[in-house]
Amino acid sequence: MENYQHQAVVLGGSMAGLLAARVLAEHFERVIIVERDELSGEWAGDPVADPREREVRRGVPQGRHPHGMLTAGLNVVEQLFPGATDELIAAGVPSGDVLGNVRFCTNGHRLRQVPIGMTALSFSRPFFENYVRAKVLAMPGIELRAGTDIVGIDADPESRRVIGAFVHRRDAAGVEAVPADLVVDATGRGSRTPRWLTELDYVRPPEEKVQLDLAYVSRHYEVDPEALEGDIAIVIGPSAVAPRGGAVMLQEAGRAVVTLFGILGDHAPLDDPGYRAYARGLPLPYVTDVIERSKPLDDPVKFRYPASVRHRYDLLQRFPKGLVVVGDAMCSFNPMYGQGMSVAAVQALRLGDALQRDGVAGFDALRFFRAVRPVIDIPWQIAVGGDTALPGVDGPSDTRTRLVNRYLDRLYATAAHDEVVSVAFSRVTNLLDPPTALLRPAIAARVLTRRRSAAA
Ligand SMILES: Cc1cc2nc3c(=O)[nH]c(=O)nc-3n(C[C@H](O)[C@H](O)[C@H](O)COP(=O)(O)OP(=O)(O)OC[C@H]3O[C@@H](n4cnc5c(N)ncnc54)[C@H](O)[C@@H]3O)c2cc1C
Repeated sequence: MENYQHQAVVLGGSMAGLLAARVLAEHFERVIIVERDELSGEWAGDPVADPREREVRRGVPQGRHPHGMLTAGLNVVEQLFPGATDELIAAGVPSGDVLGNVRFCTNGHRLRQVPIGMTALSFSRPFFENYVRAKVLAMPGIELRAGTDIVGIDADPESRRVIGAFVHRRDAAGVEAVPADLVVDATGRGSRTPRWLTELDYVRPPEEKVQLDLAYVSRHYEVDPEALEGDIAIVIGPSAVAPRGGAVMLQEAGRAVVTLFGILGDHAPLDDPGYRAYARGLPLPYVTDVIERSKPLDDPVKFRYPASVRHRYDLLQRFPKGLVVVGDAMCSFNPMYGQGMSVAAVQALRLGDALQRDGVAGFDALRFFRAVRPVIDIPWQIAVGGDTALPGVDGPSDTRTRLVNRYLDRLYATAAHDEVVSVAFSRVTNLLDPPTALLRPAIAARVLTRRRSAAA
């Protein structure tokens, strides 16, 4: 076996794993990504000529459904792969201003749209992931072991340190041990780290969960170019009175993906008349307007998302050396808020910071988990706050929460006509500012003045 000074193994080759690998390559001589799907690093950037560039793969079934990248995440992608935005646009990914060309509706209000000078991209998830994978695999020292199952992790006899992973190549016999100075678990919601921890005599991380029984039902359309009136995406969030939502996102290759989502079992039907009727039940008509003017290209497909789950690794007192967890394996957010890939991107940067500060030998996962706590806290607060304002979703119902929700109701109504408030809200949902930015006196004054004048 070849010997490497510093070797890292990344479990899972989706967005969190790829972005982590990109950063690890600056600190390890060799980075091995282990992924069960058969993947390659090819990306010709021609989604029209080669539909395989936008094909959904088994390990990431959510890839069929809309995937928006928030500005905070896109900024990291641009930092890690300079020129990425331009390359994706050149390959045919629709782009526009993140507020000026993205129609965002919440609580029955359409936010006022003004250009704020930040680019948004509207791609299919597979096309974007294929691009990022090609970039990552082009880096020296990074290797992909595709078609390979992760069987378990290997630890020293005292279980103090994880020393590698056990993997099984699907077309070969037996299990192979891959040694590593650091194992990064990026296997998504199905992560087995909680179970591995108990097997190694550690405690599982406490878990926070918000039961949603959410389903996305998505379908591709050939859209009438006029149907979106110059926007690249439309997002209608659910409201307390109509807890259903929907989205339209233009994609490369001249298509659009439409999704309809509902919580607590109120899921969109899969037949065409039922699908269209469900869309008419959304708080605003914009998704219906697009559907009625466009030609469906396939049948609706459903994705069930039972609950948002946050594993509180940051609260643990003991954790083995040589192991760390990132991405959905640490926290899986309600997808309606479009946060998962962006949080994974910011986490990757923080992982790089930690390695830079402590070195490979000094890397301390518990310290990393605590350092990324705010990276998770903020989007988690946004998502859980929004969800628990919906009827039937369990969550805090104390006076403070009720007051915050009442304030937000007024803020959304104000943002429909007041561009300062709309910009402030857009910066928060794009993870550029914390939610407390919406309570700043300059914003609160506008929100509360509107309330008084509306009441007068
Ligand atoms: C319906 C839906 C819509 C979403 N929309 C958005 C959005 O608009 N914006 C956004 O930012 N995020 C969105 N997300 C979240 C986003 O998909 C994830 O946050 C993102 O993919 C990062 O996840 P990950 O890499 O941690 O895990 P995953 O994407 O789940 O990937 C895990 C990887 O590990 C591999 N793997 C797992 N187990 C094994 C094993 N035993 N052996 C080998 N390989 C294994 C899998 O094949 C896969 O490649 C959405 C999610 C859903 C469900």
